[in-house]
Amino acid sequence: MEIPLLARQSKLKGIGLLATGDCIHRKWLDHLKESLEGEGIYEHGGMKFVLQTEVQDKNAVHQIIFLPSFSKAEELREKLMRHSSNIDADGRPWLKLNGEEIAEKVLECGGMIGPAHAFTPYFGIFAHFNKLADCYGKYAKNVHFMELGLSADSLMADHISELHRVAFLSNSDSHSPYPVRLAREFNVLEMEDFTFNSFRKSIEREGGKGIKLNCGFFPQHGKYYMTRCKNCPSYFTLEEAVNLNWKCPKCKGQIKKGVVDRIKELSDSEGNPNRAKYIHSFPLAEIIAVAHGIENPSSVRVSRIWQSFIEKFGNEIAVLINASIGDIEKIDGLTAEYVQAFREDNIEHVPGGGGVYGKLLPLGKKAEVSFLKKEQKSLMEF
Ligand code: ZN
Repeated sequence: MEIPLLARQSKLKGIGLLATGDCIHRKWLDHLKESLEGEGIYEHGGMKFVLQTEVQDKNAVHQIIFLPSFSKAEELREKLMRHSSNIDADGRPWLKLNGEEIAEKVLECGGMIGPAHAFTPYFGIFAHFNKLADCYGKYAKNVHFMELGLSADSLMADHISELHRVAFLSNSDSHSPYPVRLAREFNVLEMEDFTFNSFRKSIEREGGKGIKLNCGFFPQHGKYYMTRCKNCPSYFTLEEAVNLNWKCPKCKGQIKKGVVDRIKELSDSEGNPNRAKYIHSFPLAEIIAVAHGIENPSSVRVSRIWQSFIEKFGNEIAVLINASIGDIEKIDGLTAEYVQAFREDNIEHVPGGGGVYGKLLPLGKKAEVSFLKKEQKSLMEF
């Protein structure tokens, strides 16, 4: 998973700007310096890259950091090194600093910082805190973005009024350089040009620029969407879980609070009419697999159909978002039905929770989660 392969595969996905990940790790930073050209926003083989990393603070909150140059990445690495037992242990180092202390150093380096997968239990800011300032102290006002995570979308997160001024990023960390894993979630940013300053202006919504579209999984697909037992895994309402003292009556396993219920606890707003549109989507190979009832999205049959889409439309995002359903039908009718259903939000899931991903259901099938029926109304309000 190195830059030349990432650059080639990103084009097939339809990505215009890819975040590097891990940019303060010694070996990866050296690889980036060898592979990328430019200043601020870098380039390899026609693909643009922005320097980015994720770190874990001493409260177990994961933080996303964007940096404006290699020299600033070196500088931040120096500043953080003495606050980590081994900054190169892996791509996402553990730091003995809180969010406020890290924010100070990032801002000194001209970077941007915000919470990663903000609502997920264990490592999201809202697993540990109720407000941005509880984490970032006097630098809360300098936090201009938040990453939603797979189990939340804009509609859910905007139930918290404090977040209305913050840009929402729908991103996903990729563990493989291929389009089925790259940019499972992505954003459309409006930028004047490919400079770090324009990137910053877009995130900070300066001069009418900003995020024009978020695209990501149905939050039901995320592995912490519903409150659910980590072991068996049964579903519970928040009230049930509290009454059971977070212990599953069926298997004695631990019940893990879902993102839906965490947002309900923090909710103080009906929503935000100024938020960019959020489209729910899914990697094309996985849509093809579901449409054809094929278990493995990496199978030869799926790959063949995927390839014919790429030959016709150039990249995956063009198929998922832009192409007309009529044109998609000409390649594959079954896939066209599903792409249309995604665009119309007409897809049902066995909802995720307790660390288990949700499961997309074939068209026409409804989720059979017993208590969901009585809860449906309040869930649909999100
Ligand atoms: Zn259980």
